[in-house]
Amino acid sequence: MASVVEVRKLRRVYPLVEEPVIALAGVDLTIDPGEFVAVMGPSGSGKSTFMHIVGFLDRPTSGYYAFNGRDVTELPEDTLADIRSREMGFVFQAYNLLPRTSAVENVELPMLYAGIGEKERRAAALGALDAVGLLKYAQHHPNQLSGGQQQRVAIARSLVNDPRLILADEPTGALDVRSTNDIMQLFRKLNDERGITIMLVTHEPDVAAFAKRTVTFRDGHILSDTAAPATPRSLDKLGMAIV
Ligand code: ADP
Ligand code: MG
Repeated sequence: MASVVEVRKLRRVYPLVEEPVIALAGVDLTIDPGEFVAVMGPSGSGKSTFMHIVGFLDRPTSGYYAFNGRDVTELPEDTLADIRSREMGFVFQAYNLLPRTSAVENVELPMLYAGIGEKERRAAALGALDAVGLLKYAQHHPNQLSGGQQQRVAIARSLVNDPRLILADEPTGALDVRSTNDIMQLFRKLNDERGITIMLVTHEPDVAAFAKRTVTFRDGHILSDTAAPATPRSLDKLGMAIV
């Protein structure tokens, strides 16, 4: 199966008047189906720029990018938008939910944009809310939900079109420790049980620990790329698989 993301010599330069900013200075990275990758690094190291390019929200200055094995560097905006809406889900630090709109309607939005009919929309949105443990909050509005619950609604929204890749930028940045753990366990479950490929930007090691691979950026370069050590939990699974 083709890699979900393959980038080679990826550069992104912001041509500022005084002095250009080199946000990405030649990045090589491959992410295969089913991976759960944490992207780490200090502020300004290029994490968000990289995520935006991977999610077609920005274009590289130069370099190669193939998504699902297809070279996307020259594709027009509407084709990228189409691939993005069918194959990618996004989760940001700010939940970006519409106020005065129920949870289920917020989750339906990506399907509305994709032109899917009302009945199918509602069924899929309720299924996604169920997957994040919020079925009974379907009619609640964002201001009736905690931060952790609002982020769950945002994750349900990212899931509703059954994406191949979820991109999350500091998704726990505004949450307390308990909600952070809940949200990270949810991402881990979506990866383990549904095989959804996840790339998650964070600067917190405790958050990155839920991923299976950690890529660390520094000054627009990849400084290190390591598989997470096997946790007791994954060792358990291994034991069960052998039995
Ligand atoms: P991170 O997410 O790791 O904090 P970013 O990808 O946001 O880093 O930024 C990488 C570098 O690019 C930083 O030096 C930042 O100031 C610069 N940068 C990001 N966005 C822009 C922009 N729109 N215009 C100019 N410089 C930018
Ligand atoms: Mg950032």
